[in-house]
Amino acid sequence: MTTMKPISRKVVYRLYPSRSQEAALLDMLGLHQRLYNAALEQRIVAWRLRRKRISEFDQCHDLTDLRADDERYAGLNAQSAQVTLHRLHLAFAAFFRRCKSGEKPGFPRFRSVERFSGWGYKTHGDGFRFTPGNGARNGILRLSGVGTIPVRGRARTPGDVKTCEIQHKAGRWYASITLSCEPQRVGGASAVGLDWGVETFVTLAHESGEFFAIENPRFFARMKTALESAQQNLARKAKHSNNRAKARRIVSAIHRKNANKRRDFLHQQSAKLVASTDLIATESLSIKNMTRSAKGTVESPGRNVAQKAGLNREILATAPRAFLDMLAYKAEEAGIAYIEVPSSRVKPSQTCSSCGKQRKKALSERQHVCSCGLVLSRDRNAARVNLLWALAHTGREPTGCLAQSA
Ligand SMILES: [Zn+2]
Repeated sequence: MTTMKPISRKVVYRLYPSRSQEAALLDMLGLHQRLYNAALEQRIVAWRLRRKRISEFDQCHDLTDLRADDERYAGLNAQSAQVTLHRLHLAFAAFFRRCKSGEKPGFPRFRSVERFSGWGYKTHGDGFRFTPGNGARNGILRLSGVGTIPVRGRARTPGDVKTCEIQHKAGRWYASITLSCEPQRVGGASAVGLDWGVETFVTLAHESGEFFAIENPRFFARMKTALESAQQNLARKAKHSNNRAKARRIVSAIHRKNANKRRDFLHQQSAKLVASTDLIATESLSIKNMTRSAKGTVESPGRNVAQKAGLNREILATAPRAFLDMLAYKAEEAGIAYIEVPSSRVKPSQTCSSCGKQRKKALSERQHVCSCGLVLSRDRNAARVNLLWALAHTGREPTGCLAQSA
């Protein structure tokens, strides 16, 4: 099945500015940062002195005056300045929302230029123009006031350019471009249930009754070793020395490489999975809960703590949330069902996938053994519980082997 409903997709390109373009980008970053801080100060002062709340609308109005008085701001794209004011508005909106719900959030803060992430444009052709290269690979980005900058990156699905955000991270420049695209991804024919493995990345239970697994990628372990030795090396260098700066660059290069490899792995595996199924059932996931159990507060308090802490590190390293997000949007692209099973209610690891009986298992118990006669690995049983719940929930009858066992 293919959906033709357009969807938004963000693609990040790295910018390769010349020396003079880089100087222009830094100037622009400074203008946006000072605008943000000035607008924040205006809100604070108005509140302290007059108990008056200043709105985004008021500030956009003041921006017009600022642009008339200050030629540097007159030269700045007006819409992009509005985007910066809108970001401040969002920071305040989030602050008030969290206050209202009884939390104690930090007040929106002034940002140094180092901590200021960048700025955005609202309309293609107004302040920025992006021209992708052949096959939606690389391209050029024209920014008013900066010039034409070569960029590297790739859109999986080509589409119409909508908005653009310029980001400045660790000395590098990026453009996050929003595309509106008509995806052409095709799903498969049978339903599948997922469980996060311990020995494997993910265990899959297919409607046919077969089980498959996605193995944990080996490069995580290699990357960890490389990172540890790079960090030890960094710790040995004298403060403020050139060698220390160099060692720090090596550490961040490993982090970046790891993040890239992980993303590639998750993209490949989620694409493959979506292509093989018409329904994905996974447990809803709370990383918080998974890590908390290491301290021994959820299951079998205090036991196997070291073992669980190691396990949790592995779980975090394999980035389940990112994987589920990718599955969800790829499923949407392919027009197949993606269902998160409410695991706190359904309890996939404690429920028998054959008779439905529930029994608590310690995390160390790797086999599911039920009085109904079902003996299955813990992960496979849980994956099958998720699958059956989703089939029942969507009003679908199980087919294949599951029809007999359910
Ligand atoms: Zn049973």
